Amino acid sequence: MKHVHSGKVRDLYETEDGLLLMVASDRVSAFDHVLEPGIPDKGAILTQMSLWWFDQLKDIVPNHIVAKGDEARSVVCRPLTMVQVECVARGYLTGGGLAEYREGGTVSGVRLPEGLEDGSRLPEPIFTPSTKAPLGQHDEPISYDQVVAEVGAEAAAELRRITLAVYTRGAEIARERGIIVADTKIELGWDSDGALTLGDEVLTPDSSRFWPADGWRPGRSQPSFDKQFVRDWLLSPESGWDKTSGNPPPRLPDPIVERTRERYLEAYERITGAPFSG
Ligand code: ATP
Ligand code: MG
Repeated sequence: MKHVHSGKVRDLYETEDGLLLMVASDRVSAFDHVLEPGIPDKGAILTQMSLWWFDQLKDIVPNHIVAKGDEARSVVCRPLTMVQVECVARGYLTGGGLAEYREGGTVSGVRLPEGLEDGSRLPEPIFTPSTKAPLGQHDEPISYDQVVAEVGAEAAAELRRITLAVYTRGAEIARERGIIVADTKIELGWDSDGALTLGDEVLTPDSSRFWPADGWRPGRSQPSFDKQFVRDWLLSPESGWDKTSGNPPPRLPDPIVERTRERYLEAYERITGAPFSG
């Protein structure tokens, strides 16, 4: 098989019949660096979680899945021409959105009410697109008008509609299972018939912020089901790493790797209601 692309997490290969084999590695990235070592089973957990979600969302948007792969970490999918916009929906304010809001009261050009704090629930979910930055660079927020300039008015409206519908359905299902989906990023592309199709991964802890609902308290950073242990450790004095130094981060200690793995497993099991079997 021909290797066609390696992203931060996934590797893509072209199959003999013109399809793609997408293999999710155990690589974990934080602050735009790929870290060492990987998180055991992460690729398989995220692939299986995405498959579960694709199925829940199939009446909202078609997806790229053709078949499960031979391994739990891989899927066979249709090649898409990816939209060069990161499609983000936010139901809660935090992270980059919060930083932008604090500067000017808007997120990706959407004006928000005053007085919101870290973790606040928004009056309604909003579409906050950003650029797709190349490896090692940061995605920048863009306005809806910039999306229109990039893909045209009709496609932009579709991107917004689909992104918000995926977020809304995902957040509803997760909430029944005690998880808040604060925000999520989806990747859409055009299939060979020109239909907008959901690709990549969907509603995983890598592409979304999952918060345990019973721990939600606006006004501080929220506990989360993702690589929070990794980020917290990297920023702690223990790691000895200076984020602004430009140096690569140090190797993750085993207990941080293990706790992160448990967090991914817990997210999988809570959302799908089934134990992860690999
Ligand atoms: P990106 O910002 O491009 O997503 P990444 O490092 O997060 O970078 P990975 O998730 O590691 O990327 O790699 C997956 C890559 O495959 C992405 O570039 C994604 O756009 C692309 N991709 C996913 N599904 C498809 C598909 N069906 N057809 C073509 N490309 C796809
Ligand atoms: Mg990706």
